[in-house]
This record gives sequence, C-alpha cells and structure tokens, in this order.
Amino acid sequence: MANNPAASPRVRFAPSPTGYLHIGGVRTALFNWLWARKMGGSFVLRIEDTDQERSTPESVKVILDSLRWLGLDWDEGPEVGGAHGPYFQMQRLSLYEKYAQELIDKGKAYRCYCTKEELAAARESLRKDNPKAQFRYPGTCRHRKDRPDAPYVVRFNMEAVQREAVTYRDLVFGEITTPNREQQDFVLLRSDGVPLYNFGVVIDDLTMGIDLVMRGRDHMVNTPPQILLYEALGVKPPTFAHLPMMLSPKGEKLSKRHGAVSVSEYEKMGYTPGAVLNYLARFGWSCGDQEIFSLEELVDKFSFESLNRSDGRFDAKKFADVAFEHLKEPRLTSDADYSRHLHPFMAARGLGSVDEAMLRKAIGTVRARGRTLADAAERIEFYFRPVVFDDKAKEKFLTPDVVEPLQAMIACLSSLDSFDEGEIEQAIQQLLASRGWEMKEIAQPARVSLTGQKVSPGVFEMLAVLGREESIRRLRQGVQIARGTAS
Ligand code: GLU
Repeated sequence: MANNPAASPRVRFAPSPTGYLHIGGVRTALFNWLWARKMGGSFVLRIEDTDQERSTPESVKVILDSLRWLGLDWDEGPEVGGAHGPYFQMQRLSLYEKYAQELIDKGKAYRCYCTKEELAAARESLRKDNPKAQFRYPGTCRHRKDRPDAPYVVRFNMEAVQREAVTYRDLVFGEITTPNREQQDFVLLRSDGVPLYNFGVVIDDLTMGIDLVMRGRDHMVNTPPQILLYEALGVKPPTFAHLPMMLSPKGEKLSKRHGAVSVSEYEKMGYTPGAVLNYLARFGWSCGDQEIFSLEELVDKFSFESLNRSDGRFDAKKFADVAFEHLKEPRLTSDADYSRHLHPFMAARGLGSVDEAMLRKAIGTVRARGRTLADAAERIEFYFRPVVFDDKAKEKFLTPDVVEPLQAMIACLSSLDSFDEGEIEQAIQQLLASRGWEMKEIAQPARVSLTGQKVSPGVFEMLAVLGREESIRRLRQGVQIARGTAS
C-alpha cells in the first residue's frame, strides 16, 4: 500500500505553548512516540509559538518538563537540538519567507494588499444580502501586477489548483475526499512575516523530513489545504493519521470544567507517568480486553491496525483505578521508580532525606493500599517519624492488660537471630501458641505502639521494615503508655 507508514518513521509532536500540557495533547504525543520507538524512527518536538500573544517561555518549560516527567523523550527539538532546527517556529521565519517567495514565483501564491477595513466592508456587504453566507476572499489581488509600498499578506492561489478535490488515505479514517471548492485563497504569511498555522506546519514538516503526521481528528479540516500546499511545492505529502478525540463524560470538548486536564495536575495528585500514559493510550487504541499496560508493552503492541475511530469519554474514576493498579504492581512501577516518584511527596511532608533501603522496604508494605503517591507518602510517613498517637486508638488498645503480651513480644523479638518478616512471624506465632493467646490480642496493641494508628500495614512486615532496635523502642513506649506511665 502506497500510504503505509515508512520503516524508520520521522514523526513529530507540535504543541503550541499557550498554557499547560493538555492530556489530549499527551495522547497525541504518546502515539507518535510509541510508533517512533517501535519502528526505530525519530520523534521530533517542535514548538508552534506563532501566537505571540498567548505563547510564553513558562509554557514552553511546562511542556518540556511534562514530557520529560512522562518519559516521552524526543530525538530532536528544544534543548536537544538536531539537524533540522531551530525547533521553534518563531526562529524559522526566514524559511517561511523563502518558500512563500517560491510559491509566488510559481504563480501558486500571491501578495494581497487588501486592508482589514476593505475585507470587513466586503464581509459586511455580503452579510447584508445573505446573513448566513460564509465570506470567502474574492481573489481581488490575485492578478495584481504592481507592488505597492504597503503591507501585504501572502495568499494561496486556489485558481492555480487544477484538480477538483483532494483525496488522501488516512491511516485511521481511510480514504478522505474533500472538494476544493471548500477552500478559499487562504493566507500563508501575515504582513509581519509570521506564518499561519497551515503554512508553518507544512514548511516545517517538509523541511524536518516528517513522513507521518499523526494528530487529533480536530485537525482533519486542515489536511486538504496542507496537501494542496505540498502539491504546489511539487513535493509528496506525508502520510496522515488522525486520532479520535478525548471527550468529556458528556461528549463535549474535554476542558478544565471537567476536572484535571493538565499533566502537571496528575503529577501533583500522585499518579505515576506510566499510569497516565496507560490511561491515555486507551483513547483511540485497544488491544483485546487488556486494560493495564507497561510502557514496554505499549511500544510492543502499538500498531495502526489496532487504532480505532471512536471518540473516547474521559472517566476520572477509571483513570484513578489505573493509577492505583500501576502503584500496586512492581511489574508496572519498580521499587526504584516508586521511590523516585514518591520522593517529592515525602519531601512535601518534611521527609526529604530518608534512608533509601528502608524506604524501599516500606514501599512494599503500602503498595496494596496507596491509591496515589500522595496517599502512599501519608501511609509511609510513620516509619520515619516519632509515633504520633491517635487518642482513640491509644485509649482503646493501650490498656494495662496488654502490658504482658507486649513485653512477651519484646522478649521474643530480642531473641531472634535475624529480623526478617518470615522469622518474625514464625516466632510470634510460636509465642502465641505457647501462651494460648490469640493474634488479635497482640496485633492491635502492637500496631498502635508501632504506628499510633488503628490502621496500618501488617504487623510482621512493619516490624521487619522498622528493624529490631526501632521496633523494640516503639513497643516499649507502648508498654509505658499501657501502664499509664507515659502519655
Ligand atoms: N500546534 C498544533 C496544535 O497544537 C499542531 C497541530 C498539528 O499537529 O499539526 O494543535
């Protein structure tokens, strides 16, 4: 098939730096990245900053930081460079000028000197006759031969297009035909030399050697004029793949109103990058009934056959479930990654430097419960701090009758050769059996002594993480409280 993606594709992500990085944009970036990684291609990052009023350096930074946090590394682009730079559109103005001139020389584009006022008047007079009519530039300057000393824009010359329609084969949506009568002499360059979206994109994709353009289907309307531009320049257009949209639960455009839509918000909530990418991958792509994927699996399984056309609806609860699943499974979040991602949340609780070996062990005890990294940090905190007692827990479980079992437990733990979870459990079970005690008689007092709380990870695993010395110290403190000699 002529339209098949190339073997070592060059793909790109081209965000406009006008705010945060929207998760819909990340889905697009992800699919491009997955394809590049799977096929040994290149993933190019280009910043489309021609909207000078809304583009900011802060927003560029947010985009780069978010992509880095997600692990979507780019082979060419800002801060990494590459052979096709610069990667900011505002630094490429001379290129756009050169290609605009080429099109003018070929008669495929022309300078238009119509002023805003003239165009507004023409629009107005059209509306007077027919309020619903859509204004199209009437081609006033198309055949103009003079070059007045006045500002001009460069327009595409639709009259020079021979064919009736543009047809292309979209890798997701199949064959698409759009009649050329739907186009007008659209503007390529503004009078200040800044390109409009369609022109900038085409010149960049062309000069950056992009051979597959994968983007949201909201850009499908732009594809026919872009193809007309490639043809006017006498070059082969890239292959296009448009992706279905991520919509709100009610089917509207997904925006801030519907909850968190920026990557940084999910980072702050304590979702792992793997979970964010996993959830977003399911918009427009599927692999049987499988819901949970590691990034490696996504790279491995991603294919154009498994892309679909139906828009997806954002579901915050499902997203949260995916986030939890990723934290639970060491296969999806290794101890090292868990620790690395947990670090900022620990630091926010004043625990910026804790013993790494102990932290990794502690992580093993909260994996099954921490729904987010923020939640996990809260659950893990007690290992690294003096015990803060919940009053009710203390009153209920640290009573004089638990002094004896706690002391027996201390003696038992002191006598152990090694202090791993299995050995601790075995010894305590033997102690219980020999005294005829039930686990519940010892578990809650021990738990409250060790953590100050009624709910915590299992007692044996906590003991193993805390280590002998600290465990015994905390249990002794529990004994003192139970005796009424400490509070
Ligand atoms: N700057 C455009 C956007 O953010 C890029 C569209 C494209 O990929 O062509 O939507």
